[in-house]
Amino acid sequence: MKSIFMRKNIVAGNWKMNKTLQEGLALATELNTILSNSKPNCEVVIGTPFIHLASIASAIDTSKIGIAAQNCADKESGAYTGEVSASMIKSTGAEYVILGHSERRAYYGETYEILKEKVLLALKNELKPIFCIGEVKEEREANKQNEVVKAQLEGSVFNLSAEEFSKIVIAYEPVWAIGTGLTATSEQAQEIHAYIRGLIADKYGKETAENTTILYGGSCNPGNAKELFANPDVDGGLIGGASLKAADFKGVIDGF
Ligand code: PEP
Repeated sequence: MKSIFMRKNIVAGNWKMNKTLQEGLALATELNTILSNSKPNCEVVIGTPFIHLASIASAIDTSKIGIAAQNCADKESGAYTGEVSASMIKSTGAEYVILGHSERRAYYGETYEILKEKVLLALKNELKPIFCIGEVKEEREANKQNEVVKAQLEGSVFNLSAEEFSKIVIAYEPVWAIGTGLTATSEQAQEIHAYIRGLIADKYGKETAENTTILYGGSCNPGNAKELFANPDVDGGLIGGASLKAADFKGVIDGF
C-alpha cells in the first residue's frame, strides 16, 4: 500500500548526452502529445542536455511535463568558461536539476563538497534537485550499500534545513544497474529505499521523511517498472535508456 503522505510519484527521464536539438524537440513534442491524450498517474520530467532546455520549454506544456537539467555549475556566475549556472537553467523554464549522478561523480570528479555547493545553488535559484546516490558493484558485493548512501547524504545534503530538504527528490541508483541491463530486485530496491527514508527520518523527522520522493534508477524499463513502483518506498524512477524513445518512456510511466 502506498503512503498516505503527500509525496509525489515521479518518472524522470535522463537523456544524458543523447539527441541533437532537432531529435530532442521531436521526442519531447511526441511525449507531450501522448501524455495529453492519456493522462499519467504520476508527475513526468525529462532531463535534457543544456542546449535543449529553452527550446523544449517553449515547445511543450511544462505544466504536464517538467524539464530538468542534468548538472549545474558549483559557482554562481563569472569567469568559469564552459559552465552553466543554476540561474541560467532556471531562466530557461526548467524546474529540476539532476545532481550527483554517478557518471558525474566518476568521470568529472564531483566530490561531496562540490555537490553540496551545487545543491545549495540549485535551491537558491528555485530549482528542485534530483539528488542521485548509490553504491558501485564492489560495495554491494561487500554489503556496504547502506554506509555508502549514508555518507553520500551526509556529505552533500544533510547540511540543509528541513525546509530546504523538503524541496529535494532523492534518486537511489545502484551504479552496477545503470545502463547494464541488471536491475535491483524489487526486494533490494524496497530494502534500501526504506533504509534511506529511515536516515531522513532520523535527521529531519518522520513527516519530512514520509513526504520525500525517493526514485529508483538502474535499467528500469516498461517490463519491470510496475513491480518496482509497487513497493511502498519506491516513488518512481530515474530512467536513462528507456527515456530515449517515447513509447518506452510511456511504458515506464504506465508502471503507475
Ligand atoms: C541513469 O543513468 O540515471 C539510469 C538509470 O540509466 P539506465 O536507465 O539506462 O540504467
